[in-house]
Amino acid sequence: MSVKDQLQKITGTIPAHVTLVAVSKTKPNSAILEAYDAGQRDFGENYVQELLAKHESLPKDIRWHFIGHLQSNKVKLIVPFVHLIHGVDSIKLLEEINKQGAKQNRVIACLLQIHIAKEESKFGFSYEECETIIATGQLQDFRCVQVRGLMGMGTNTGDHAILQQEYAELRTFYLKMQAHQPEWNVLSCGMSGDYRMAIEQGSSMVRIGSSIFGERNYSH
Ligand SMILES: *Cc1c(COP(=O)(O)O)cnc(C)c1O
Repeated sequence: MSVKDQLQKITGTIPAHVTLVAVSKTKPNSAILEAYDAGQRDFGENYVQELLAKHESLPKDIRWHFIGHLQSNKVKLIVPFVHLIHGVDSIKLLEEINKQGAKQNRVIACLLQIHIAKEESKFGFSYEECETIIATGQLQDFRCVQVRGLMGMGTNTGDHAILQQEYAELRTFYLKMQAHQPEWNVLSCGMSGDYRMAIEQGSSMVRIGSSIFGERNYSH
């Protein structure tokens, strides 16, 4: 199936209140343009250099989501145009985004990444750390950062029962925090293998790569 067909098949099953981020990492501009021509505007990338090159050469009304692990020294490069940074996982990173936002006169929308997976290797705040950050009000000090919600990556497993429990927990925590954060409206979880279930568990933003663009030939 073509990218356009895959995309339409997926958008047909996603409720209107859920945003589809087409994850185009490692994929060529031609594939992105095929999705673009079918109406897709939200795209997700994991690597700063790749994102810069694509932003440079592709239509300027694309909303670029940075979904990878962001290094502080690269923040300044994406601040001029990034639509939403999903994986904010440290106060140091928030400070740098705020600093670059102030320098470049932009308020940057961000999601706090929560470590929901059982694996050690995944990035993110624990629930306790996140709750403390919110309770202490320190997010208000970051005038050029607007936190819009949470992002989670489930355990790398085909076991949907495990993922379902992780997403359900994330959703419960999100709702609890959102009660005091009226500007929160994004819960980003769910990928190709589990997005339907993630939506059932309350996700409002799914990040889908291989189901749209096909398997990736290489990974970084
Ligand atoms: C690559 C990636 C995705 C998309 O994964 P697929 O299984 O190809 O849909 C989603 N989220 C993040 C953070 C990723 O790195």
